[in-house]
Amino acid sequence: MTTPRIEIDLDKIHHNVHTLCQRLACCGITVTGVTKAFLGRTEIANTFVRAGLQSLGDSRIENIKAMRHAHVTASMTLIRAPMLSQIRDVVVHCDISFNTEIETIRRLSAMARTLSRTHAIVLMVELGDLREGIMPENLGSVVQEIIRLPNIVLKGIGSNLACFSGVSPDSANMAELSALAYFIEARFGLTVDVVSGGNSANLEWAFSGEDTGRITDLRLGESLLLGLETLHRNTIDGLYTDAISIVAEVIESKLKPTQPRGTIAQTAFGGTPDTRVAGNAVQTILAIGNQDTDTLGLTPPSGMRILGASGDHLVMDTGSEYMAIGSELSLRPNYSALIRAMTSPSLSKVMNTQMETTPT
Ligand SMILES: *Cc1c(COP(=O)(O)O)cnc(C)c1O
Repeated sequence: MTTPRIEIDLDKIHHNVHTLCQRLACCGITVTGVTKAFLGRTEIANTFVRAGLQSLGDSRIENIKAMRHAHVTASMTLIRAPMLSQIRDVVVHCDISFNTEIETIRRLSAMARTLSRTHAIVLMVELGDLREGIMPENLGSVVQEIIRLPNIVLKGIGSNLACFSGVSPDSANMAELSALAYFIEARFGLTVDVVSGGNSANLEWAFSGEDTGRITDLRLGESLLLGLETLHRNTIDGLYTDAISIVAEVIESKLKPTQPRGTIAQTAFGGTPDTRVAGNAVQTILAIGNQDTDTLGLTPPSGMRILGASGDHLVMDTGSEYMAIGSELSLRPNYSALIRAMTSPSLSKVMNTQMETTPT
């Protein structure tokens, strides 16, 4: 099999999706499966659907187009505000888009009218994390304008926390979102179908046992793939954390001094290798590097330590163990390592169910 590669166990992902879906169903919350980390690859998207998801979300229209093209049968939501340059594709390929700018919504309306379609939108509200969102005090005036626009349906409201400033979803900010749903219903006589509370960082709040209020849906990516909640990166009970691994090949393994020799200046990527006690140790090099993935986000097998990496060498301290040249090592990626590896053309993507290499 080719190396380096990313191995994806679809059965484990199926289990993770099914388990989280069932647990959230108990609090009346559905799951939108977020597909951007794997660029909407058909096998994984279909695994999400088979495990019970009816709605998928992605921040990039290209990924949604790829899933549509592959006939993935789910409702598709663009979870990043549309670019004006992509309005046509958004109306053609997405059932719903998340929006924060009235100008963009006007353009969606005009395009939907041209194409004789309706397009549904969710308005994102700023609740403290300072990424996307309409300021809460301005929500009413935006809704007022939207309900007059032709071919646009206001499906609901949403928020995104923890991504930019690290603000935790909690009972206070989630209650604020619920209150905004009630406010819109009361003021405009509408039904707010969707209240999209957040991402994998919302799971601690959702499972805290507190009332989840009007929140109807969470958009989950990392937790489904890596089995972690994302506030503290704790393992979620009963989920697999090893559904995805990165496999790289040993190209050198030698006893070397633990201290560099010569005058020290800048390295290729500005970092410095991990410090070690003076002496000698077996140093092993894997043929993978920062051009392929975020090497700081890789966890090696126990007993081994990553010392550092350059563009295409990952240098490890393997203690007293020489590794056979040509042997393979499996490393656990965090989210950052995962998205970069999935995006890299130099890693093949291998799914467990067929164990067959598909072209990148
Ligand atoms: C990426 C993203 C998500 C999914 O986040 P995870 O931490 O992977 O669960 C949800 N909502 C929005 C708006 C996103 O951009």
